[in-house]
Amino acid sequence: MAQNFGIHWFRRDLRVAGNQALKKNWEQNQGQVVGLFTFDKQFLSRPDFSHNRFQFFMETLHALKQEMQEIGSDLLFMDIGPEAAFSELLLQLKQQKHYQLDLVTWSADYEPYAKTRDTNILSFFKQNSIATQVVRDHLLIEPHELGKPNDDNKPYQVYSPFARQWLKIFEEGDVQKRIKEQKAGLRYLEKRAKGESDKIFNLNWNQIFNNSKDYQQTIDLYKTENNKKVTISIPPAGSLVALKALQDFKNSLDGYKDGRDIPSLKATSRFSIFLKNGTLTVPQIIAFYGLEPYKKKKTSRDSFFSELIWREFYYHILAHFPQVENQTFLPQYRNLKWENNTEWFELWKEGKTGFPIVDAGMRELKTTGWMHNRVRMIVASFLTKDLLIDWRWGEKYFMEQLLDGDLAPNNGGWQWAASTGCDPQPYFRIFNPWLQSRKFDPQA
Ligand code: FAD
Repeated sequence: MAQNFGIHWFRRDLRVAGNQALKKNWEQNQGQVVGLFTFDKQFLSRPDFSHNRFQFFMETLHALKQEMQEIGSDLLFMDIGPEAAFSELLLQLKQQKHYQLDLVTWSADYEPYAKTRDTNILSFFKQNSIATQVVRDHLLIEPHELGKPNDDNKPYQVYSPFARQWLKIFEEGDVQKRIKEQKAGLRYLEKRAKGESDKIFNLNWNQIFNNSKDYQQTIDLYKTENNKKVTISIPPAGSLVALKALQDFKNSLDGYKDGRDIPSLKATSRFSIFLKNGTLTVPQIIAFYGLEPYKKKKTSRDSFFSELIWREFYYHILAHFPQVENQTFLPQYRNLKWENNTEWFELWKEGKTGFPIVDAGMRELKTTGWMHNRVRMIVASFLTKDLLIDWRWGEKYFMEQLLDGDLAPNNGGWQWAASTGCDPQPYFRIFNPWLQSRKFDPQA
């Protein structure tokens, strides 16, 4: 008789620790679960594609595959898009009689493109009578769970009341249960870091396909090919590196409040590159440091916690108002007459504006794939409010360069700076680059 098994479809949840969808599948199939990552090659020709960020992603996938193998499973990599990949897999599965696909799981995604893709794939599985389960992952509180209690649960458009309501919900039993689950995930990871990981899975692709297919080299192939186009040094990737980052930041957390606005200090966590591909998640970070709700931000822990909530806020905005991906949040700013001087735009990109803090930030971005939050705000304000260039040009350039480039916070950050987003403050939110330099970077 054929044995049941499950597939976990990895997307932007590239880790095992605390991955609840993977765990559900593992429980239902007693450890007989294999991983799949599949993407559409067309993705490589997106206008805001970044070879640098893709390389970091491929390095992360490579580390995930190693981890999956180490714990008794495996990760298959395909590059023909999800629907074609699953069709091909189902066809091949029909040709063998030993394993019966029982469940496909994945973690929820809230980006507009992903939501359409996932709706389509759900109906594909329905047509093929295959059970699926989608579980939340990178957001602790999902967009449909948080709205204005006295106004028909309508979504918040301003951060402060959103954060207050978020912190209220945070204390509920369900949420605390999810934090506990993340603590368990972290314990697994800490054990693994000590070289004590167990074979908790018991199925790999070679067993299913009886060694007839060798997909094993494809991650390496992409890694090698893409690496030829990489322009910066790519930092180490994977869950163990992310765990080390969590551990290292423990010592700096108390200095976060005072240090986080000073670009010359390394006072922020730099978790964003891991958050982007799910090697780390906000729930996991909260669990690791045992962050607790605050009424007014007093301590460094409160400040840090509030930044994590900013991330959730921008994801809620994107989920409720998907039009922000291409348009200003506020309709009245849709026809702004930007000057869009291409020569100035090039000088901004190259860090040749003559404003030291702007130029330092833009050069750092190009040579490292990173920019400090304070400087992101300064250069974005400079582009939109001084050079009068459309925020979407800057948003796209950031996506081309940033290792942590991520639609929701990037779009949110740009619309915040351009005052076209929610809570715009168009007449007050103008950063003077000289005053900013004097205040936050006096020694240049
Ligand atoms: P920390 O200060 O250590 O904060 C911890 C985490 O909180 C971050 O990793 C991040 O997930 C979250 N966070 C912190 N600040 C913000 C914020 N202002 N908005 C939303 N979440 C925040 N962040 C991205 O992850 N990807 C982007 O593409 C991106 N583009 C931005 C563009 C502009 C114009 C601006 C102003 C901000 C942008 N941000 C973006 C937000 C922020 O700058 C980065 O998240 C932060 O600098 C990452 O550094 P860190 O991990 O050391 O942050």
